[in-house]
Amino acid sequence: MPLGIVILGRQGSGKGTQAVRIAESFGVVHISTGDMLRAAVAEGTELGMKAKSIMDSGDLVPDTVINGIVEERLQKDDVQSGGFLLDGFPRTVGQAEALSGYAENDLNLALNLDVSIDEVMDRMLARGRDDDTAEAITRRLELYETETAPLLDWFEERGILKIVDGNGAEDEVFSRLTAVIEEISEK
Ligand code: AMP
Repeated sequence: MPLGIVILGRQGSGKGTQAVRIAESFGVVHISTGDMLRAAVAEGTELGMKAKSIMDSGDLVPDTVINGIVEERLQKDDVQSGGFLLDGFPRTVGQAEALSGYAENDLNLALNLDVSIDEVMDRMLARGRDDDTAEAITRRLELYETETAPLLDWFEERGILKIVDGNGAEDEVFSRLTAVIEEISEK
């Protein structure tokens, strides 16, 4: 059975960087909805044009839009054979429900990369992405607390949540994540 993993964590928790390393190490397909949206913006597609101003303000793209994109991606052959690591999705309970509708049996693990608000603030200001203005950062952190944090309970209730300390050096955090994933994949 290929692995199905979601990685949660505040923006700036390092989950994007860790997700790339996990995908490489375990051979699963890294699916980042943020990357998919940024690619659509760069290509100037209809989706990109709709998403740009929402992303710049730090708001969330509507569930109906994002759910469709993810559902389509999960049906591709590479995911069906290699498994997936979802990064930046789900971000709302509505998205988690949609995901469990089309991938319930394929989902083995929800990782929460736990980093304090102070630490993620510093990291985001340092990375200097286009949408990393102080206002957008504040808005994204606010939405994380109201929309995304409730997902921790949601996954906990389904018995697949693992919390991993995301503080410290990148390699240390990666070792912690690897240990948790290995435990699951041996089951
Ligand atoms: P990220 O790279 O994950 O920080 O995402 C960058 C931006 O893309 C977010 O601030 C949102 O505007 C949008 N976005 C990415 N993933 C989602 C999602 N699952 N639901 C809604 N909006 C998203």
